Amino acid sequence: MSAANLYLERPALTPAAEDLREEVRTFIAEQRDSGALPPPERIGLGFDVDMTQRIADRGWIGLTWPRQYGGQERSALERYVMNEELLAASVPVGAHWVADRQSGPVLLKFGTEEQKRFYLPQIASGNCYFCIGMSEPESGSDLASLKTRADRVAGGWRINGRKIWTTNAHRVHYMIALARTSPAEGARHAGISQLIIDLKAPGVTVTPIISMAGEHDFNEVLLEDVLVPDEALIGTEGNGWNQVSAELAYERSGPERWLSSFRLISELVDVLGADTQPSTQEELGRLISHLLALRQLSLAVAGMIEQGKSPNIEASIVKDLGTKFEQEAVRVARNIASAEDLVGNGRAPRLRALLMHAQQYAPAFTIRGGTNEILRGIIARGIGLR
Ligand SMILES: Cc1cc2nc3c(=O)[nH]c(=O)nc-3n(C[C@H](O)[C@H](O)[C@H](O)COP(=O)(O)OP(=O)(O)OC[C@H]3O[C@@H](n4cnc5c(N)ncnc54)[C@H](O)[C@@H]3O)c2cc1C
Repeated sequence: MSAANLYLERPALTPAAEDLREEVRTFIAEQRDSGALPPPERIGLGFDVDMTQRIADRGWIGLTWPRQYGGQERSALERYVMNEELLAASVPVGAHWVADRQSGPVLLKFGTEEQKRFYLPQIASGNCYFCIGMSEPESGSDLASLKTRADRVAGGWRINGRKIWTTNAHRVHYMIALARTSPAEGARHAGISQLIIDLKAPGVTVTPIISMAGEHDFNEVLLEDVLVPDEALIGTEGNGWNQVSAELAYERSGPERWLSSFRLISELVDVLGADTQPSTQEELGRLISHLLALRQLSLAVAGMIEQGKSPNIEASIVKDLGTKFEQEAVRVARNIASAEDLVGNGRAPRLRALLMHAQQYAPAFTIRGGTNEILRGIIARGIGLR
């Protein structure tokens, strides 16, 4: 590929997508009115199994999947619009997020018929959540150096290793773990496979890691002689690297990569009102125009996924630019709150809470799902600069 090939066309949103947007907005308004969705005081994806159940009841988990596996056979763009609305309103979608965004699609693409029949309907009905078991204490960016091993035993695999930063491992059902299943002969990326681990299985120990914001979202997961059956292997033995690469396009391009700070911006705008300093208007204007440009870019990648492509480079661009925007939004909000004296003396407590949480949480934006340095390496290679 060269830079000339990186032309991104924003797809037109269909009437069905706009109808779904209205449906989701109505749902959100109902949730707010009933008290099930209190105004958030933190950013990020909240974990709320009741909300996940209500979303599943609408048929909104696995929206694009075939009906035979519990899906609705709707388009990727409709799913995009739905998620855009849910995220902009800070609906806590964290319980099903990973299963819906990437575990389910990976199973659809590489899984056996039995795996699809077993897992996908459970995910779509809101009863089965997944986490991502890629990173290890000594392997993050350089994932191919991972040490977790899955050794062949009669009828299955014995897994030993240690995963880290595993978001929600303490409250989901399954992890898709990346493990070495055969020696790296020649290519380092060969001999790695994806296996489904039941987190209740003997030999799995999940230990909390408390974040800088004082929250328990991620964990260390110790795997000691964990036995999984043959059916736990996803796709082809040794093809895990290619499968994970396909998965990362889903992980890197969605609206969650530029909407994390949106709640903070909207709260700031609400608190500010109309009477603001010219410098505030300029800063906010710049921020909103960046937001709109990012949305076009991210939608264009959703359009490519819709066409069945694997836009890894384009998704990396969205994540690099989107996460930097999310961090910049926190800095701008802090400057404006200070310049306009918005949060002192108990004023605007919700804005203050959001701001404080965002400041502690924002460093994660450019690390999770692959650091920005790594993304830039992927982009450079993709356009022929490396
Ligand atoms: C909020 C959050 C949630 C997460 N959830 C999960 C999860 O659920 N499951 C999971 O598996 N992982 C998860 N992670 C882990 C995340 O994927 C890793 O932290 C990330 O890939 C970086 O790996 P590392 O922490 O080992 O850092 P390192 O790889 O050690 O990187 C350290 C620094 O060196 C830079 N660097 C490394 N290599 C290069 C290079 N070749 N060129 C230039 N710079 C380089 C990096 O950009 C970074 O700045 C999560 C992380 C966060 C912050």
